[in-house]
Amino acid sequence: MARTTLRFPALPPKMRLAPPDRPEAEVVDGLKERFGLRWDTVQARATPWVEAVRSRPAPFWAMESLLKEYPLSSAEGLALMRLAEALLRVPDVETAMALTADQLGRASFDTSDGSAHPVLAGLSSSLIGLTKKLLPQDAAQAGLVQRLGAKTVVAAGVRALQLLGRQFVLGRDIEEALREANSQRKDVGSLRFSFDMLGEGARTEEDAERYLASYRHAIARIAQGVDPQAGPEVSDGISIKLSALFSRYEESQRERVFEVLLPRVWSLVEQAAAANINLTIDAEESERLELSLDVLEALAAQIAQHFPQWKGFGLAVQAYQTRALDVVREVGRIAQTYRLRLMVRLVKGAYWDGEIKRAQELGLAHYPVFTRKHHTDLSYLACAQALLDLAPSIYPQFATHNAGTIAAIVQMARERGAAFEMQRLHGMGESVYREVLKSEGIALRVYAPVGEHRDLLAYLVRRLLENGANSSFVHQLADPAVPIATLLASPLQRPGDEGPALPLPPALYGPLRPNSKGADLACLHHRLPLFEAAERTQVPAIPMAERAAVEEAMQALHAAFPAWESTPVAERAAILRRAADALEARMPEFCGLLVREGRKVMADAVAEVREAVDFCRYYAMQAERLLVSETLPGPTGESNELRMRGRGVFVCISPWNFPLAIFAGQVVAALVTGNTVAAKPAEQTPAVAQRMVELLHEAGVPRDALRLLHGLGETVGAALVADPRCAGVCFTGSTQVAKIIQRTLAAKDGPIVPLIAETGGLNAMIVDSTALAEQVADAVVQSAFRSTGQRCSALRLLLVHERIADGVMKMIGGAMQELVVGDPVRWATDVGPAIDAEAHANLVRHVQRLEREARLIARTPMPAGLAGDYIAPVAFELARIEDLREEIFGPVLHVVRWGSGELASIDAVVDRINALGYGLTLGVQTRIDGRAHQIAHRARVGNVYVNRNMIGAVVGVQPFGGEGLSGTGPKAGGPHYLLRFCGEQTLTINTAAAGGNATLLAGGH
Ligand SMILES: Cc1cc2nc3c(=O)[nH]c(=O)nc-3n(C[C@H](O)[C@H](O)[C@H](O)COP(=O)(O)OP(=O)(O)OC[C@H]3O[C@@H](n4cnc5c(N)ncnc54)[C@H](O)[C@@H]3O)c2cc1C
Repeated sequence: MARTTLRFPALPPKMRLAPPDRPEAEVVDGLKERFGLRWDTVQARATPWVEAVRSRPAPFWAMESLLKEYPLSSAEGLALMRLAEALLRVPDVETAMALTADQLGRASFDTSDGSAHPVLAGLSSSLIGLTKKLLPQDAAQAGLVQRLGAKTVVAAGVRALQLLGRQFVLGRDIEEALREANSQRKDVGSLRFSFDMLGEGARTEEDAERYLASYRHAIARIAQGVDPQAGPEVSDGISIKLSALFSRYEESQRERVFEVLLPRVWSLVEQAAAANINLTIDAEESERLELSLDVLEALAAQIAQHFPQWKGFGLAVQAYQTRALDVVREVGRIAQTYRLRLMVRLVKGAYWDGEIKRAQELGLAHYPVFTRKHHTDLSYLACAQALLDLAPSIYPQFATHNAGTIAAIVQMARERGAAFEMQRLHGMGESVYREVLKSEGIALRVYAPVGEHRDLLAYLVRRLLENGANSSFVHQLADPAVPIATLLASPLQRPGDEGPALPLPPALYGPLRPNSKGADLACLHHRLPLFEAAERTQVPAIPMAERAAVEEAMQALHAAFPAWESTPVAERAAILRRAADALEARMPEFCGLLVREGRKVMADAVAEVREAVDFCRYYAMQAERLLVSETLPGPTGESNELRMRGRGVFVCISPWNFPLAIFAGQVVAALVTGNTVAAKPAEQTPAVAQRMVELLHEAGVPRDALRLLHGLGETVGAALVADPRCAGVCFTGSTQVAKIIQRTLAAKDGPIVPLIAETGGLNAMIVDSTALAEQVADAVVQSAFRSTGQRCSALRLLLVHERIADGVMKMIGGAMQELVVGDPVRWATDVGPAIDAEAHANLVRHVQRLEREARLIARTPMPAGLAGDYIAPVAFELARIEDLREEIFGPVLHVVRWGSGELASIDAVVDRINALGYGLTLGVQTRIDGRAHQIAHRARVGNVYVNRNMIGAVVGVQPFGGEGLSGTGPKAGGPHYLLRFCGEQTLTINTAAAGGNATLLAGGH
């Protein structure tokens, strides 16, 4: 078929929808106002279906039986799910044995209470018993007989999971899936299918091209079996995921989404339109929701021009989004504007857990999804009604396995005489629909995933979660203990539980400490004020302090100490809280400065302001906890009390890479413990520091309790540290400078002064062969290149198991090609410049050395004409760990393979990392939990991150700081930090001194 090459100019972002973080109760009230339904008739329609399904329990091999016996809320269910996620991709038997032993060995598969399906109970208990007997804790040390047995169990496990997977996949390729579909049609002639080509989202262009080819092939095959005259309603169709067709399907890459992704989608649209079949764009995460509507509109405009008769184009809408009804209206508007008939699949949504976590991490005011199951159900019905009312512009396709929801849809559709179809997932809801089809004679389409075993894992886990969730209809349907009345209860009338069922993100840390407010940059409402502020920001010039100013400041700070120290701790804490509130309110202004002066991209700037806010609130809370006098036990006739107090003038020296968060964290920790503070910011970023000092003064810190002294480390910094009035130093920066400070302190006469030093790291990530390449690639790219690699915690040394190394490196290299180097003021930029010309020159020198001595894996392309201190992210393979000699503070990743020779074992790898002498952060990517704990135990590092990125420590959640060459501790943002800023005093009073022990004699002991 001849393809047209269309260009899609990017539509500018617009505020189509309300912000995603509206109060849930407000949204629910709105839904209730507009929606009504007689629920008794819905119940009456659905009850016989449920009774019939329950009278025929699922066979023992069905997913429902398995999950009933081992629900996901149990350790056993969780172990099974985790095994299902990983086992099929593990490349070697030894690791597969270790993984199986790890997951199954710790759970207790006791089926003796007789509650389970008798056949499954018998089978599973003997199989699992065998597993436990044969799979040793340490597979490497087991004897031959045991190892042979273990291999058999693992082989059986692999086979069982393949069979489990097959329940949800129609075929390994489209040909097999079509054959299977036709065979199912022999039983139910009216059945239609929507095929879905399985796989993780694309991380590289190569992935995207592969998915595109597989969609093209699938559409061509589907088209062969379809009569173009029949129409998309009755023919098989295809479902596509946009994230599979472009690795950067993100709001920040809007221009490229239109330039690269849309022509790809268009090529599929042309094919589907020519075959006259349904092409549906699946719904993904909420951060892509607005963008997906723009994509829809751009495609709709072209379809209206090129294929105005085609009625098969469509998308999925998720009802669990609080904006779902707005989305339906918007889709209706687009259909009407372009005079198209769109097919809209209404689903409830498959990424609920991820949405909740993201909102918590971003510190949003409210969740973008409902937090009560019946609110999702209510929203689904309200959206269904809206879709039915949009006929003929919309052909609604209702995807649900919930009998109550199905009955409600049938009722609403019948009342309107509207055309519609129902949809279910392959492997789910068969029994319910068997009954529905018997009594209602409606159209049904099956969503049919197609793929090899490796590709189905993520999908399988989603379905396991869905089937195993306590709130899920399919789960409750399989549980006879749930009464039918409960199963089919109305989502409309549940008084008294309208608010969120989970603590809102601001309340994540309990009543004593509000979480800092964040922003969802994918949302224009949140993004606009921040970028506008960055555009306007002018960085003021801050004069350097003269030598005399240092003397004057130290004198003033010394004089101010007694009064500040005597200020009640509650008052000092209140000042910090006021500062936190002010900082939060002035987020755009501070972000603007961080972008302009600190050369940060906006996401990093927002995270940094939040961290500073968190420091203020956390240390305020900790000070009130720690700085109370404690009465100690002792002999009668005396009182003993332990009190914490300030030390005097603290010198705080902070780096440019976190010019606000680290600066503020040090300063407020010293202040709240009663010290006065001489704050010396990094030479590169004095303006951010100055603004923060002004804010602290406005919040109530006396001017002479906090002085900013901007200047060179060699002069101003050195003078501050050497000053006899300096009672403590808090430093974050390089190990070399920390050593100079240590020596200066040691050399000076007078008291021994404490030094808190947080220095760099040669941070490693260990990846074993159970890890998921896509997750590894995400974690590596974020950890090594985000913030231009200029974080203390950034990944420098990646250690990948040799069995998966080639694939992982290829994926990382591919993902690196998609990063954008550029001006941090632009939202599309992933990697900004190095902080200054000197840092840039050092990095260039290091990269030049690696070009001579190591193997280049990949380098991010540099945009033409980009001038400044830019450095492209780059990855090299080294022969040995020891080839990495020093901390390289930039986007340079060093990779070493492990698994044989000197690095045959995990222990050897960890020992070699320890031998580098640093000990800040460590990443671990493994599905073997025992192995993750073993590594964490052996590693001499401060922060270990398992199966995620290794940057972005959160105050009070991941207290941050290392050991060895990486610093002295205690950890910033942790419960022991403030103690290091304090002196201690015990007060002992002989209460019997004046005349004797009256209390004892009076019997009051
Ligand atoms: C044909 C088909 C296509 C699909 N395509 C997509 C797609 O493109 N994108 C997508 O995201 N999903 C898709 N799904 C998956 C769909 O979202 C799930 O099938 C759905 O979660 C199950 O809904 P149900 O009505 O069958 O089950 P029910 O058990 O009635 O509902 C489960 C729903 O409730 C939500 N829920 C659970 N607990 C809570 C809570 N405490 N608060 C609020 N909500 C809660 C779940 O997240 C889930 O969405 C598709 C499903 C089908 C059948």
